[in-house]
Amino acid sequence: MLNHFERYLKFPICTFDAKVGVLCPKCEERLKNGEITEADVKASFILAKLANQLPALDKLTLKRAYKVGDDYVLLFNQGEAKIVLSNKQIITKLREALGNVWVTEQTSDTRQFLENLMYPIRLLTINIVWLPDGSRHIKAVIAGPETYNLPVDLNKVKEITKIITGDEIVFEFEKGKFTKKSSVARVR
Ligand SMILES: [Zn+2]
Repeated sequence: MLNHFERYLKFPICTFDAKVGVLCPKCEERLKNGEITEADVKASFILAKLANQLPALDKLTLKRAYKVGDDYVLLFNQGEAKIVLSNKQIITKLREALGNVWVTEQTSDTRQFLENLMYPIRLLTINIVWLPDGSRHIKAVIAGPETYNLPVDLNKVKEITKIITGDEIVFEFEKGKFTKKSSVARVR
C-alpha cells in the first residue's frame, strides 16, 4: 500500500480515473473538447494497471500519449524515458498491451528527444536550422556506418517527431550515404 509521501504515477487524466479505468465528468469534457485524446486515456488506463506489477513506473509522469498509425508513442516527463527504455519488463508489458510502443520525453533537448525514440541508436551530431516561419529543419547524423539492419524505422521516427514537435528531420550516417549499393559493398 502506498503511503502519503510516495508519489504515484501521474497521467494526462486524473490518477483516480486511471486507477479505476473510468473517466470523471471533468476528464470526459477535456476529451470532448480535444484537450486530451483517446490515446491519452488508453495509455493512462494501461500504465495504471501495469504500475501495480511494476513499481519502477511509480514515480513517472506520462505527459501525453499519441497514436501514430497503429503505434503508440508515450511522452514522459523530462529525464524519465530512460527509466522505461532500460527496463525490459516494462517494455515487454507495454508491447503486450498496446502493440508497437515508442517512448520518449518532453524536453527542449532535441537530441535527447530523438535518442529516446531511436533507442539504442546513438546520434553523432544534430544540426538545427530555423526557418523564417518558425519551423525547424533538423539534420541528424547517426553514429557508425550506414546499414539496413537498423532496429528502428527511421521513417516512423520522422513521422512521430513531426507530429509531436513539428520538426522535419533528415537522417544521415556518419559513414557513407544511405544507398543500397554502398551498403552491400560494405557488408562484404
Ligand atoms: Zn478525471
